[in-house]
Amino acid sequence: MAIATVDPATGRTLATFPPLDAQGVEERLRRAAEAFEQYRTSPFDHRAQLLRRAADRLTADREKVAATMVTEMGKPLVQARAEVDKCAKSMHWFADHAAGLLADQIPDAADVADSGAAGVRVRFRPLGPVLAVMPWNFPLWQVIRAAAPALMAGDVLLLKHASNVPRTALYLQELFAHAGYEAGCFQTLLIASGQVAEVIRDDRVAAVTLTGSEGAGQSVATVAGEQLKKCVLELGGSDPFLVLPSADVAKAAQVAVRARVQNNGQSCIAAKRFIVHEAVFAEFERAFVEGMRALRVGNPMDEHTDVGPLATEQGRDELEEQVEDARGKGARVLCGGRRPEGLAEGLGEGWFYEPTVLTDIDPAMRVHHEECFGPVATLYRAADLAEAVAIANDTPYGLSSNAWTRDPGEQGVLARDLQAGGVYFNGMTASHPAFPFGGIKRSGYGRELDGLGIREFTNPTTLWYG
Ligand code: NDP
Repeated sequence: MAIATVDPATGRTLATFPPLDAQGVEERLRRAAEAFEQYRTSPFDHRAQLLRRAADRLTADREKVAATMVTEMGKPLVQARAEVDKCAKSMHWFADHAAGLLADQIPDAADVADSGAAGVRVRFRPLGPVLAVMPWNFPLWQVIRAAAPALMAGDVLLLKHASNVPRTALYLQELFAHAGYEAGCFQTLLIASGQVAEVIRDDRVAAVTLTGSEGAGQSVATVAGEQLKKCVLELGGSDPFLVLPSADVAKAAQVAVRARVQNNGQSCIAAKRFIVHEAVFAEFERAFVEGMRALRVGNPMDEHTDVGPLATEQGRDELEEQVEDARGKGARVLCGGRRPEGLAEGLGEGWFYEPTVLTDIDPAMRVHHEECFGPVATLYRAADLAEAVAIANDTPYGLSSNAWTRDPGEQGVLARDLQAGGVYFNGMTASHPAFPFGGIKRSGYGRELDGLGIREFTNPTTLWYG
């Protein structure tokens, strides 16, 4: 894919960027290694001051960077602004909490005495330059989620962003430079995905984190494995959303709509499969379909738009093929199931797709076992809790999950049995800097955010004093 900004609402190419050549990559690797040697010794206070400055500058740039994201990947403007705010808040959170999260651990006194030591402590030392391979769907948040904890841990970052969000990628480099970081602490590498393996193989790169598709995750993990380098993977998800008889069904349906179409349906933690107990199925179906039908599809720069275009033409075509496959195998289309008509002037060539609900899903359909990365929901009927859990777990993915029940017994079963990195009761999944984020199965491994996330790219060092 060319490195270019192509407006998904119109299909027009706005800017193209040449990829870095070998010398350009070499310069940045050298700068990263040099910057790390200085930065790794800096105290937490200094790192926190820099990160707070970057956060405040990001807030000041809110309108500019939100508009850039909209023109690069099509999310509604209101959601782009919210993404900026979330990033700034999380940067402050890590600036405030990193020293505590990475404080030396002191083992139990009896164990220290048993080892024959006068004292033992575990120190979380930085690892080195970390390569972050990032996707376009939350072009700011995905990067900040990796960068804020890593910078607070004393690591430096090399960003390989998705090829369709180069302006956001360059803005991020500028943001950290203007905040006062040394040039090598955060650098954007405008490179193609084919150049990533060479960067991972470079001895100066200590580790890699990737958010993206399974295919990209496999490629990166293979090279990182060959090189015996630490790797964290946040891949796709097909999160279940269970609705059981004790739920507030009207509220569940309302939240279900938001959970499915946030970010034009292109979120790894979006609820995608709606599994509803037969006792409340009809009520949920009516309210959910009504809510999906009422969404306004259109220009993402318009503040009243709920759903904008998909980020890429390929993404829209893929989603359409998944829906057609399901329709051909007997799924009923309760709403949507096509490209919208009658869009405002100039948007006809954009990559729009109507919010869609499919039911009568069969395991032979692609939508049953693949991720739908767009505003398409699948609706299942379950006879009881056990069947709901079985459907929820019948997926290669295991990122997060949502369960609507007020019954503590059912909550206990779901907290024990749902195969995912999160179970959100009576609400929708949303990441927060204080909670670990990540998945199991084909959704990847490792965690981001919280103490677990910030320690992923550290060297927990045992200091033993005789
Ligand atoms: P990709 O996985 O293709 O892209 C993500 C990043 O990986 C981009 O920077 C991309 O670069 C890079 N990349 C792609 N292939 C390789 C490779 N072989 N080696 C090294 N780097 C590579 O994402 P898509 O655009 O295909 O996004 C769609 C899918 O990604 C979704 O279906 C979803 O499953 C998943 N996803 C998951 C997210 C999560 O948070 N877990 C978030 C976003 C997406 P380039 O753009 O240059 O190809």
